[in-house]
Amino acid sequence: MSKLVPPHGGELIPLLVHEGKQLASLKAASLLTSVKMSSKEESDLVMLAMGAFSPLEGFMGKEDYLRVIKEMRLGNGLLWPIPVTLSITTEQANAIREGDKIALTSALNDDILGSMTITEMFTYDKSFEVRQVFGTTDLNHPGVAKTFNQGDIYLAGPVVAFSEGSYRKSFPEFAGPVETRSLFCEKGWETVAAFQTRNPIHRSHEYLTKIAMEVCDGLFIHPIVGNLKPGDIPADVRMECYRVMLENYYPKNKVVLKVYPMEMRYAGPKEALLHAIIRQNFGCSHLIIGRDHAGVGNYYGPYDAQKIFDEIRPSDLSIRPLKIDNTFWCHSCFSMATLNTCPHSNENHLNISGTRIREMLSAGERPPEEYSRKEVSDILIRYYQTLKAN
Ligand SMILES: [Zn+2]
Repeated sequence: MSKLVPPHGGELIPLLVHEGKQLASLKAASLLTSVKMSSKEESDLVMLAMGAFSPLEGFMGKEDYLRVIKEMRLGNGLLWPIPVTLSITTEQANAIREGDKIALTSALNDDILGSMTITEMFTYDKSFEVRQVFGTTDLNHPGVAKTFNQGDIYLAGPVVAFSEGSYRKSFPEFAGPVETRSLFCEKGWETVAAFQTRNPIHRSHEYLTKIAMEVCDGLFIHPIVGNLKPGDIPADVRMECYRVMLENYYPKNKVVLKVYPMEMRYAGPKEALLHAIIRQNFGCSHLIIGRDHAGVGNYYGPYDAQKIFDEIRPSDLSIRPLKIDNTFWCHSCFSMATLNTCPHSNENHLNISGTRIREMLSAGERPPEEYSRKEVSDILIRYYQTLKAN
């Protein structure tokens, strides 16, 4: 009997068809009208396939959608902070009727990745959605821009996935919640702290994860590998950084590194809740929430993503946030620290901007070891060199 936290809503619901039925399902779907997904929708389908979005069984209908954006709850009252939707244009909608079954094709090619039975088609108010979800209608926000660029009609209904797209092939660390839960059980873990990341691991991230390791049985490093915004470090480069960190600076039997395919929404606090739900499904009891979790620009306060966990009911989630203050190297403490542990003033702290770090790496220069482990710096230097070569 597993001692891990239960999945959100009580049960994992992976929507990937059994391997033996994949070919037949694919053949049947090739005769259907097809809808090409955006890369975000495709990665959401893979999340549904894995059961990472349990208890969702498809793209959201109007009742769920409206209650999610207004109250952060599904129609049945279960906590859900950000809608999971499939959009089409008005022209596409003319060729589809409620009750139809459609094929869902990849954003990258014409591969059919799943099918969906349309239970609802509905129009929606983009300005209202983005104001509710992102707290802004500013088109410079990548989540807002993405919403305004998509079709005007949402298609809803249960989905069946035939494939996990290219993710499992691209990443040896790809795993779904069923796999990670059994892995954690094998290791005898009951409490597992998840670390959401979209950046290379620097000393401050390392420190966050190690604080978590002091209080939990295991650490689950769980980078997001869906498309990011321009300027973010690509997934394969980040993976190289995580691997080298685990190899050199973490005890092997205490850490699991796996990836998941979602695309960042950059919705700050609301996304922190979504990240928590997903990690609960993967079997984690805690999620590390540092400064400006899932934020972008200056749209959210640095600790909004921590505060939002105080606004929900304790019964809404089984997973708990591990709220940790901003971390930095202090020259006087001669260690990593936070304002909770360090009595020294700001001049004692290593202050170095992201822009300066990028300049150093681009120039082939390692940032201070108090900022970044040399193995990670070297990988990033190589990456910036390839950027320049292109
Ligand atoms: Zn200090």
